[in-house]
Amino acid sequence: MTQPIAVKDDPWEMAQRQFWQVARRLSLRRGLPELLATPQRELTIRFPVRMDDGTIRVFTGYRVHHSLVLGPTKGGIRYHQDVTLNEVRALAMWMTWKCALVNLPYGGAKGGVVVDPRRLSPGELERMTRRFASEISILMNPQGDIPAPDVGTNDQIMAWIMDTYSMHIGQPISAVVTGKPVLVGGSLGRKEATGRGLMIAAREAARLLGLPWRGATVVVQGFGNVGSATARLMWEEGCCVIAVSDVRGGICDPRGLDVPALQQHVAATGSVVGFPGTTPISNRDVLDLPCTFLVPAALEGQITGENADRLQAQVIVEGANGPTTPDADAILEARGITVVPDILANSGGVIVSYFEWVQDLQYFFWSEDDINRRLERLMVRGVHEVAALAQSQGISFRLAALQRAVQRVASALATRGIYP
Ligand code: GLU
Repeated sequence: MTQPIAVKDDPWEMAQRQFWQVARRLSLRRGLPELLATPQRELTIRFPVRMDDGTIRVFTGYRVHHSLVLGPTKGGIRYHQDVTLNEVRALAMWMTWKCALVNLPYGGAKGGVVVDPRRLSPGELERMTRRFASEISILMNPQGDIPAPDVGTNDQIMAWIMDTYSMHIGQPISAVVTGKPVLVGGSLGRKEATGRGLMIAAREAARLLGLPWRGATVVVQGFGNVGSATARLMWEEGCCVIAVSDVRGGICDPRGLDVPALQQHVAATGSVVGFPGTTPISNRDVLDLPCTFLVPAALEGQITGENADRLQAQVIVEGANGPTTPDADAILEARGITVVPDILANSGGVIVSYFEWVQDLQYFFWSEDDINRRLERLMVRGVHEVAALAQSQGISFRLAALQRAVQRVASALATRGIYP
């Protein structure tokens, strides 16, 4: 098996190392690993946007389809100044494994625009989004490729994408994108879905490992949509959230934070920093705090060969995609720290995206209770199946999850056959 070359220390290199570790363990037919190791389609776009001052700014964006084996491609759109094609490739590949692992009828995709969205006015953000949506509409459609929110994007941006696509087609097509506002075909429970899934994954891990749940201490890195919902839901379950951080810094209180009050503080000030009665701590240092659950919910590559030795968490529940590098994985495994991997732990988002898509296609909407119950069932089953495989083969949760997912995609590919 030849391994494609990738730049060291980037997410694509991480995704490749993870994939080849699994591919070597599975006896797949020759040629299949090479096929699955690379994206099926990649689109790079340079597109102009009229700025408020009348000038034209040219942006760079991407949409990558990693695999179309199990169904239409699914995956978010990221707006961040550090977006690269390699990052989008890795995120698209992880979406393939994430969807396959919990049996969603989707392949994996991801998109991104190189931009700091906080530096655009609302009008500029809308025009940029609409132009990007037009540019990717050669790939995007409700039966072929369905975007969703990711870092730097939100439900309003999804509404603009839905509207732009619908304007092209001449009729409202809500199923082209998920994570929309409920008012325009979004699903109840979608906003908190990733956080709810993470809470369930942590709770099931506690059960499996015999750790206490109520009163368990929690540290969350990243307080965006995923991190804040996770902190809130774990707090509601009686866990003790002792530290959280965001891009501006972190805060710590060993007696436990009042998470609803913290959310109000963030809504008013834009950051967790300065929340009364807490001690400041850096965004990096929160990772080293002793706790039951560490939830990295920011960006990739946070837990590395450099700092994995210092971590004092008992369980890591990955909210972000790719927060732990393969070097760190090896160290954590040797130290007996359990990692509930991204493709399992944060799959609640895409699971409820799937529910949203199904509701949109049927023009029939479910109650929030229904959605949360279905999400709960899929998450609990996912965690226990992965844990059983990990235990029976003596491997990590990450390896077990990837192995299940890759095997599923490879089997579907072999069953569909090679055309012509
Ligand atoms: N961006 C989210 C993820 O990484 C959600 C993707 C989706 O709902 O399609 O899983």
